[in-house]
This record gives sequence, C-alpha cells and structure tokens, in this order.
Amino acid sequence: MPRFGLGVWRVEDEEAAQAVQWALETGYRMIDTAKVYKNEKGVGEGIRRSNIPREELFVTTKLWNDDQGYESALKAFDESLERLGLDYVDLYLIHWPVAGKYKDSWKALEEIYASGRAKVIGVSNFHQHHLEDLLTTATIKPMVDQIEIHPTLTQEPLRAYLEAEGIAVEAWSPLGQGKILETPKLIEIGQKYGKSAAQIIIRWHLQNDIIVIPKSVHESRIKENFDVFDFELTAEEIEQINALNIDERLGSDPDSFNF
Ligand code: NDP
Repeated sequence: MPRFGLGVWRVEDEEAAQAVQWALETGYRMIDTAKVYKNEKGVGEGIRRSNIPREELFVTTKLWNDDQGYESALKAFDESLERLGLDYVDLYLIHWPVAGKYKDSWKALEEIYASGRAKVIGVSNFHQHHLEDLLTTATIKPMVDQIEIHPTLTQEPLRAYLEAEGIAVEAWSPLGQGKILETPKLIEIGQKYGKSAAQIIIRWHLQNDIIVIPKSVHESRIKENFDVFDFELTAEEIEQINALNIDERLGSDPDSFNF
C-alpha cells in the first residue's frame, strides 16, 4: 500500500475527476474516496483520463453506515465498483463502527477479500475496544484502521495498539482540514527547510509511519503536498510537533457519532 495519496471528501464528481487527474499526473498513486462522498464516478473518470495502468494504482472506498450488515454490504460494494467503473478496489473499509452491525459487515468484507475484488480490507474510526470486539469473531484481522490524526490529535495510545496488532495506521484530516496551517511552530520548522506548514505536517505523518491522504482540489497544492520526499525532520522536530497535541477532534468521536 502506498504511504501517500489524495483524499477527496467534500469534492463533487467533476472536480474530483480533475483533482484525481492532476494528482496522478503529479505522481500520486493512491486515491481515497467513499460511497458517502458521492464522487466515486468522478474518481473513476479521473483514473481513466490519466491513462495510468490500473495495476499501478491503489484505490480506496468505504462502506457507508446505512449499508452495514452482511447482504447490504455485499450489495453496496458491487454498487461502489460499478460507480468507480472498476472490477476491484485495492482497499475497502468499514467507514464507522455501527454498533450491532459491524461484525456482520466484516463477514461481507472477508468474503469480498476472498473473491479478490478487494486486495486489502480494513476499518475506519475504530477505537481499540471496537477492534477487540471485532476480533472475537473475525477470521481475517483488519489490515488498516483509518482514523483522524493531525498534530493537534495525535492518538498515540490507539496508534500504539494498532502497531502492536500489526494494523496499518492511516490518517484522515491529516492537515487538520487546513485549520492548523498557521501554527507558528510548523511555520518556523518549515522556514528551515524552505517548506510550507502543510509539507511539514505531511512529513511528520510519514516519519511517524502513518499513511497520509491530504485533500486538495488545487493543482498547485496537490503538487506542493507531494513535494515532501527531499527532506527529513529531525527527531527533535518530530517531538516538537508531537507536543502540539491537545486531543482536539475536528470530526466526530466514534463513540458518540450519530449513526
Ligand atoms: P485535510 O486535513 O486533508 O485538509 C484539507 C483542507 O486543507 C482543504 O480545505 C484544502 O483546501 C486545504 N489544503 C490542502 N493542502 C493545502 C496546502 N498545501 N496549503 C493550504 N491548504 C491546503 O482534510 P480532509 O478532511 O479532507 O481529510 C483528508 C481525506 O481523509 C479526506 O478528503 C477523505 O478522503 C479522508 N477522510 C476520511 C474520513 C473517515 O471518516 N474515514 C473523515 C474525513 C476525511 P483546497 O482543497 O481548497 O486546496
């Protein structure tokens, strides 16, 4: 799985097609969408416009809450494939841990995985207790947990659990939805390397072994966010960024999400 990709939440079909095309031309190889983003068609279109061979790409989509359950998850997966215009996805995720349903949904994902139509299966927004519960019945362990992580919500305890379980950690809203880019410490570190605060944050994720999917619909920012492979933060700088944590969620807490 690539460690870096493009997120497309809150992007409409045509804009998504354009952003995906720019990203793939820039060198991105991973795209993160979801049924609920209502842009799977646009993502598929952007992929086709890029003319990059399918096997070089890594496409993620997600099972929405209303579709959870065994039969309904199988059906929702087929519909996602159809909208994307693909015959497999690289990663299929359960979007949120809907109580009483995620175990049945997971059975469907195991079946989809066995059929080869999802190369990797995982979850999103699962706390440690959700995973512990799921693991009581799962025959395949989730391979990825996509959770909210940025410098003001570092989630160190959950990351430590995932690492111990061998579950890859993927960050959503990795740039704090663009709301933390004026943070003086990030700007100061950026000045040393001639990089923006966004680039410093992306580097911080990568050096922390976190898979990162920054979203942008602007070509210049899509390129800027990719330009992070020619410098390295020091251990001290990583600590300084870790210290920005205030456990502040920008999205919902999975334990109080209104399903
Ligand atoms: P991000 O943390 O990626 O931030 C995106 C915001 O930052 C946008 O407003 C974007 O603006 C701006 N931005 C991006 N790059 C730059 C830059 N270089 N300089 C200045 N501003 C910049 O937010 P998201 O919430 O979109 O998270 C990323 C992805 O994670 C989503 O798109 C989605 O794929 C996934 N996600 C998954 C969730 C889940 O429940 N599993 C929940 C939320 C997100 P602009 O586009 O105008 O450039």
